[in-house]
Amino acid sequence: MKQLMWGSPEALRRLLCEVVSWKSMTLTDGEREFSSKVAGKLKELAYFQEHPDQLGLHDADLGRQFVTALYKHPEAKETIVLISHFDTVNTEEYGDLQEYAYMPEELTKLLHSRVDELPEEARQDLLSGEYLFGRGTMDMKMGLVMHMGLIEKATVEHWPINLILLTVPDEEVNSSGMRAAVPKLLELKEQHQLEFKLFLNGEPVFTQAPGDRNYYVYSGSIGKIMPSALFYGKETHVGEPLSGITAPYIASFLTQRMEWNLTLQETEMGEETPLPVTLQQKDLRLEYSVQTPYRSSALYNVFLMKRNAEEIMDIFEKVALNAAHACNEAYQEICKERNASPVGEVRVLRYEELEKYAVRKFGADFVAGVKATVQKREDWDDREKSIRIADTLIIECQELAPAIVLMYAPPYYPAVNSSNDDLVVECIEYVKQQGFEKFSLPVNQVHYFNGISDLSYVNYQDAGEGWTVFKENTPVWGSSYSIPFDEMTQLQAPVLNVGPFGKDAHKRTERLHIKNAFEEVPALVEGMVKMLAKKNRNGVRHHSWTK
Ligand SMILES: [Zn+2]
Repeated sequence: MKQLMWGSPEALRRLLCEVVSWKSMTLTDGEREFSSKVAGKLKELAYFQEHPDQLGLHDADLGRQFVTALYKHPEAKETIVLISHFDTVNTEEYGDLQEYAYMPEELTKLLHSRVDELPEEARQDLLSGEYLFGRGTMDMKMGLVMHMGLIEKATVEHWPINLILLTVPDEEVNSSGMRAAVPKLLELKEQHQLEFKLFLNGEPVFTQAPGDRNYYVYSGSIGKIMPSALFYGKETHVGEPLSGITAPYIASFLTQRMEWNLTLQETEMGEETPLPVTLQQKDLRLEYSVQTPYRSSALYNVFLMKRNAEEIMDIFEKVALNAAHACNEAYQEICKERNASPVGEVRVLRYEELEKYAVRKFGADFVAGVKATVQKREDWDDREKSIRIADTLIIECQELAPAIVLMYAPPYYPAVNSSNDDLVVECIEYVKQQGFEKFSLPVNQVHYFNGISDLSYVNYQDAGEGWTVFKENTPVWGSSYSIPFDEMTQLQAPVLNVGPFGKDAHKRTERLHIKNAFEEVPALVEGMVKMLAKKNRNGVRHHSWTK
């Protein structure tokens, strides 16, 4: 049998350290350069030298690319897509150790001279020698490295199944990599006559509580959406406070009601979503003035399991109506007490209503022009652009004020779940049994990966209304942000996440469990893929199967 480059735990560890050393923080040059480096590495495999057209670099956005590597058995149709992201979060929190954040072996050694600076659990883990520290080790370059090892073995041993290794940028911010990859997957499917059988991600295991040592596999991924609001009050001078109504005042009523709102929590199969929380609340005016602030905005984070964008908008609207009502009552009461006449009642409207109103008033070209002007601002991200589009429109439609304009700001990760899928049930059963038999590793199932993942963009299930409501209420839809809902609906196959155990993703104590990452999980995933390949044998007439 041919020698494997990445066939041993030691080789995987070396490969991981190399891949980690290719810095790739989201929205940096490193992220832009990473894709060619990983493609170069895959090109070292004999299989991709023989089939160069099955290894591809494809454009995402902002000069970033994603990589696809297809291992195709000549007679197999059934295909597993191996998904990973290669961007990482920043390293500022490493302080003076920042340059070592990308050198796991060196960093882990160095930390021994600084054990006292580490939190207790990280200290114990370091001293145990069981962990490798470094940015991206856990989240999630190990997942990518495991998939590289897997595809190498499949090509050398001629597994009777097809594999697509897909690794993408931008998961940590907007998932533009995965959203761009969706149509490409459909293209590959057509071109090579593939049948997608499973979308297998390798995101790391996230502990469910501090000190949690359990190993988990995930049969779904939690959704995340950002209901947002523009508050448009009536300006006045500080000397005459009751002749206007400030935006922060209006906002306070909604924020009070959105934060920790129980009606926006979901419970499914014994798991619950974290409660909603405010991600940002700010004034749109940047300088100090004695004119009262009359425009401000807020972004709220909401997690999802079964609900879609339409259902969340309905609840958000109810909460906002209730907030506006309370705000109006409080304002009218003080006006009555002080014999002042109120400037009006705060109304609630969805962004789509504001846009339609503006189109009626000024025409579609005007609205398109407003959007185009806002899009030119490169210093604004999609959140800021969303708010600014609504803001510019309502400035021209002040007869609607005071008002709360409800909208969605990107990103949106739909929830996805395959817990009831027979194949996924079988895979989990296999990993549980083998984990225990081979490694005495107790494996537990979680229904929704709680760290947010790119699995959100496959296996989409929606009759269409949820997605229409999202489109119509996302001001930047179709220009700087879009989700390929149509194509996602065509990518029907169950999802599963099996990745390495680690701790403290996004913290300076990010670390990977060495034995779990280099031995246990690669062996379990390999066994699972082979199990699926064997099941598939009937469809493959002359399989050559060296193991
Ligand atoms: Zn991740």
